Amino acid sequence: MHPIFRLGLANRVEMEEQPIRASGEPKGAPPYDALERPTAVIGDEVARQLGGRTRDIHLNSELSRFFQERSWPQTSKIIRAWMIWVIVLDVLTLCLNAFLLPAEIVVSMLLPAAILPPAAVTVAIFFRERRAVRLQATVLLVGVFFILLSVALVGIATGGEFYERHLTIMLFVAVTAIVIFPIPLRWAMVIGAYAVGLYLVFQLGNPDIQPGSAVAGTLFFASGIGATLVARRTATIFAHKTFLLELRDRSRLADLSDANARLELLARTDPLTGVANRRSMMERLKKCWKAAENSGGAAILMCDIDDFKCLNDSLGHAEGDRSLVKVAGIIQSSLRDDHDQVARYGGEEFLVLLPGADKHAACAVAETIRKRVEAASLPNPLSRVMPIVTVSIGVAMTIQCGRISAERLQSQADHALYFAKSQGRNQVVATAETE
Ligand code: GH3
Ligand code: MG
Ligand code: MG
Repeated sequence: MHPIFRLGLANRVEMEEQPIRASGEPKGAPPYDALERPTAVIGDEVARQLGGRTRDIHLNSELSRFFQERSWPQTSKIIRAWMIWVIVLDVLTLCLNAFLLPAEIVVSMLLPAAILPPAAVTVAIFFRERRAVRLQATVLLVGVFFILLSVALVGIATGGEFYERHLTIMLFVAVTAIVIFPIPLRWAMVIGAYAVGLYLVFQLGNPDIQPGSAVAGTLFFASGIGATLVARRTATIFAHKTFLLELRDRSRLADLSDANARLELLARTDPLTGVANRRSMMERLKKCWKAAENSGGAAILMCDIDDFKCLNDSLGHAEGDRSLVKVAGIIQSSLRDDHDQVARYGGEEFLVLLPGADKHAACAVAETIRKRVEAASLPNPLSRVMPIVTVSIGVAMTIQCGRISAERLQSQADHALYFAKSQGRNQVVATAETE
């Protein structure tokens, strides 16, 4: 349970010790899910990036890792789909050529065309699972190299008009990879470099064109690849910006829910003692009665500080306040944390709810509270009981909540308290158990 929700049962000291939201860096490498509640360090970095110009956005290594983790499903799907697409293209082209071209040309295409499917299948299989980024880069770039090489070699092996045509197809395949793959710019640049390099090398070896023409053609296509890389960079920056905006939204949402939880907590907590307030106790009583209606019982203790007015009169309100805080702490520490609840019910009056407690257990808790308050020896010099703070406690219980309302049980505890006061204070008085 989030610390904030436990605070309703905690005393003030505990409240102050529990940070609402950890602001430091989590230890180790958190998964992307950790960004449901981005840390303050990540939040600051996100704000810094979004505060600058879009074109200057640059993810640091941690954000970059989170980004890759976040976009992995999409990246994996796109890369695998592209691999299947090139295999289909390769096979379809071969089949078409088998119908349209002489057999010896088709045969010469077969061997280089056979390089492509294993390369593409290997990459597709590899990208089914998320692995180390370096390994991803290596497999993808080697795979794409063989795919481009295969397309180019089909033209070279066939010769004639197919030579240059396949080099152009190879460039087209590279451009689609650069545009489609949501990969880091460096990887896209390597693909661009392969394509231009292969084009230049094979065009220089093209018997049908002059070296000058090969270089000119390469420069022309290189500028096209360059423009594609710029577009890729822009797309990547926008993807990073969208990611940063998403992180900022999450951070704001987390802050808002923290603020709401804090407000909720304030609305349920007594500001002086840090224990639950009366409103919170009323809700708790309702819930307890609803839950236990047919099966369980409950006990209510009404605890009232004896001659508290005398304490205020003799030592002042500030000392009175301090005693109230200490008594609240003593009561809280005498309860079972996960079951029982104490609330400041009125000025120096505390209501304790003990779900499921029988007469014996309820009286034992009440007696523990009374003894501990006495043992604390908080000064109350003018008290008629003794010169220290003492409490009187009225106890009422039922073995089945369905038989009596919470209000009725509370009023019985009040009567018992009244009786304890009238009998000399600093004592526990219990009513008969409601059957
Ligand atoms: P009894 O033993 O019969 O309960 O006597 P009492 O003096 O404790 O009861 P009484 O109802 O006469 O006085 C309660 C006092 O508690 C009066 C009020 O000034 C004081 N009080 C109520 N709330 C606070 C508070 O928040 N701080 C302080 N210091 N005093 C409070
Ligand atoms: Mg009192
Ligand atoms: Mg009172």
